[in-house]
Amino acid sequence: MKKVAIIGAGLSGLMSAWYIKQFNPDAQVTIFEADKKGGQISTEEHQGVLLEKGPAFLLLENPVLQHALSKINSENLLLCKDEKAYVLKDTYYQKAPSGFMEYENGIFSFLSSGMSSIFAMKKKVSLWDTLSFFDFLKSTYGMTYAENQGSSFARNIFYTEAENLNFRSAYSELYDELKKGLGLKETLQKFNSEKKTYWQKESLTSFTPGIYYYKGGLSKIFDDLSEDLKSKDCHIEFAKIHDISHHKNEFTLHSRKSKFGPFDKVISTINAHEQSALLKGLHKELSIKLAELKYRPVSYVYSAYNFKDFNRAGLGFFAPRKEKLTISGTFYINSINKEIEKLNQFVTRTIIPGDLSLFSDQELIDIQNVDFEKVYSLTAKPLWSKVFRNESQGPLLDNHYTTWKNSVRQIEKEISNDIQGLGIIGNDMSGSNISRILEEAYQTAKNV
Ligand SMILES: Cc1cc2nc3c(=O)[nH]c(=O)nc-3n(C[C@H](O)[C@H](O)[C@H](O)COP(=O)(O)OP(=O)(O)OC[C@H]3O[C@@H](n4cnc5c(N)ncnc54)[C@H](O)[C@@H]3O)c2cc1C
Repeated sequence: MKKVAIIGAGLSGLMSAWYIKQFNPDAQVTIFEADKKGGQISTEEHQGVLLEKGPAFLLLENPVLQHALSKINSENLLLCKDEKAYVLKDTYYQKAPSGFMEYENGIFSFLSSGMSSIFAMKKKVSLWDTLSFFDFLKSTYGMTYAENQGSSFARNIFYTEAENLNFRSAYSELYDELKKGLGLKETLQKFNSEKKTYWQKESLTSFTPGIYYYKGGLSKIFDDLSEDLKSKDCHIEFAKIHDISHHKNEFTLHSRKSKFGPFDKVISTINAHEQSALLKGLHKELSIKLAELKYRPVSYVYSAYNFKDFNRAGLGFFAPRKEKLTISGTFYINSINKEIEKLNQFVTRTIIPGDLSLFSDQELIDIQNVDFEKVYSLTAKPLWSKVFRNESQGPLLDNHYTTWKNSVRQIEKEISNDIQGLGIIGNDMSGSNISRILEEAYQTAKNV
């Protein structure tokens, strides 16, 4: 019987645990969590309104989460309807003129103005060394297309506008392929069809890609998953792990007070700097490399919540780190905007990670109010605004990220004979991208 320790009860940890039990029901799996389950995904209630402190929704591109939840509580996972398309114009994302594109049930049909976007695309391809891919997709195809179709790649460089990331650094393989001459559309098609074939082979097929919300808040996913895991004799042990030792192919985990183990396999899902500290005694070179990851200095995102139907965020923006008034990228928009106008009653949440000292709460609230008015002609002021100062930081997806990740994987490969059974996954290894996180959790579980 395999004994597996998972460090971290976020999405990576719980999904890995769930699939390990699927592939290997006899495995004995323990999840260690220093704080609370869910990690960066966290729902909080303020004045009767549920606000998401982390992502406001899940953009799912693979069936990993949907499949697991379908075995537990499938009716709670809600697919959000995304009705509007926005394009980049005059620095602001504006509602696309009608007829710009039509996107319904996955069918994207080019209309006459759609054709001009293809020309725009051709023009922009030559700029790809400096252009963000997501920006490119949004400004040529519109937001809906970028989110739903291009998001297989685009999501990962979602933060790009805020961080000047270029396409090459986040998707080097795709970039190389495009450089060889394969067009964007063909490359996207090839990528999507390879993924589809893969999940079909895994028999995880009935899945609709898109934006999902979970009834009662995203945190509820973790309540439901952990309950299910408990019924399979897999528990969360609330302890902060400080050290890992390895002797005769077995791992022992140490918290300040206790010792846990032995384990045959350890899957660590915590952030790279914390992993670095954890692995200091186990492997010096790997520990040093992990500490080299740079995090986003700051960016912020804000969303408006319709007061009456607060489960779905209405609109939001990523703002650049230093310029205080220019929008650098929209988040996503759905039909709820109409309701906000109608009811004239909404609340907002703003999340700022990174350099928390750069903006005061009032400054952040003022910025979003200016943006609401400029972009949506929304003159109503929010009833109240909640600012979350989030310690969790996403990796800085600049040119160095891919190089850093490859060298971590290289060291792991080199030491895999001496230290068998150590797996490093999670937010920092997946570019803070939920779809990649899910896929990696699945693959990791399969290898156990
Ligand atoms: C504001 C915000 C918005 C986001 N928006 C999006 C989005 O739109 N799309 C997207 O794809 N992603 C988004 N993300 C990122 C996404 O939420 C994360 O990538 C994902 O939740 C990470 O899951 P994880 O399990 O890998 O890591 P985490 O959620 O960070 O979980 C790690 C867990 O490990 C625990 N831990 C740490 N150290 C120890 C230790 N020593 N011992 C035991 N436990 C430990 C932590 O307490 C935590 O619970 C967003 C994140 C934030 C903060």
